[in-house]
Amino acid sequence: MTAKERSIEERVDRLHAGGIVDLHFDLPMDLYEKRERENVLETEFLPEFETGNIGVVGVAIYIEDRYMPEMSLRVALDQISRVYAEAEESERFVICKSYREILHARKAGKIALLVTMEGVEPLGTDLDLLRVFYELGVRAIGLTHARRNAAGDGGIFAPSGSARDGLTAFGRDVVQACEALGVIVDLAHISPAGFDEILAITTKPPIISHTNARKYYDIERNITDEQIKMIGERRGVIGVNAVLVSPKKEESTLDRYIDHIEHVADLIGIDGVGIGFDFFEFIYRQWTDSARKELAAKFTTPHFIPGLSNHSHARNLIRRLIERGFSEENIEKILRGNWIRIFKELL
Ligand SMILES: [Zn+2]
Repeated sequence: MTAKERSIEERVDRLHAGGIVDLHFDLPMDLYEKRERENVLETEFLPEFETGNIGVVGVAIYIEDRYMPEMSLRVALDQISRVYAEAEESERFVICKSYREILHARKAGKIALLVTMEGVEPLGTDLDLLRVFYELGVRAIGLTHARRNAAGDGGIFAPSGSARDGLTAFGRDVVQACEALGVIVDLAHISPAGFDEILAITTKPPIISHTNARKYYDIERNITDEQIKMIGERRGVIGVNAVLVSPKKEESTLDRYIDHIEHVADLIGIDGVGIGFDFFEFIYRQWTDSARKELAAKFTTPHFIPGLSNHSHARNLIRRLIERGFSEENIEKILRGNWIRIFKELL
C-alpha cells in the first residue's frame, strides 16, 4: 500500500466508525416469510450490518400483491411482530421510537431499528389504525408503493403516465394525522401530483427515504430537479437509492450512485442528501424466475451495483466519496448527520 492509499484507508476508518443511517430496508417482509425460523436477524443480517457499521436502519413494512387486500392488515401486524421478536433475541438491535432512543442506542453501540411503512394498504380506509401502528412504533410512512391504494397513486416506472389526481381525501387525512402524531411523511414512490399535494398540506421538513434523480433514470417513480428543489427549500432530506441509479446495467455503478448524491447536493446543498440504499438483492435471489419476470414486466429489472449491493459494502462508498473529493464533514452529513437532524426535528 502506498502512503496515499494508507491515508485514504485511515480516513475511511474514521468516517466509518461513526456508523451509517440507511432509511429504507425491506427487512420485515423477509422476517415474516422466514417466520418458522429463529434468529434470522442475527444470523442473516447482523454480519453485513456489522461489517458496514450500520447504525440506524429504517425497516419498512411492505405488503406484497399476493396478500392484498384481505390479508394486508394481518401481514403488516405479523411483520411488526417478527421485528420485535427478532430484535428481542439479539443484544445488538433495539427498536427506537424517538430521537432520544436512537441516541441512546447509538451510545450503547446498538443498531437502532426504526419501523416504517411503505404503502398504507394495512390501514385500508380506517384512519384510526394509524394510531395503532404509531403505538407499535411506526415512525415514517410513505402513502403508496407503485400501485394505487385508498390514499393515492404511486409514480409509475415510466417517464410519464402516472395518475394525475393526487391524493384521495383519505390520503390527505393520513398525511395530516401523521404530522399531528409525529410520524414522518415519506414522499418515496408517490406520484408527481401526490408529491405536490403532500407538500401543499404539510409544514415540516419533507423526506424521501429512497429515490433517485430523473436526470439519470427518467421515470416518475424518481424525482425531477424541480422536486429536488422543493425538498431543499423546506430543509428536507433525500435518501439516495442504490437500485435505480440507471436503466442500463453497465451504468449501474458506484460512480453513478455518487453522481446522484452529487446532483442532489448541487441543487439543494449537502444538507439535503442522505442514504436510502433499498438493498434487496437478498430477496431477489430468493425469487423464482417467474417472480423476477413479473417484476420486470410490472416495474423494471433492477440493476444491483457491483460493490454496493448490500450493507457490508458501506466502506466502498465512503472510499469513493473521498476519492471524488467530498470533504469529511460532508461525508459525515451524507452518511448520518442529515438523517439524525431529521430525527431530532421530527421525532
Ligand atoms: Zn420502495
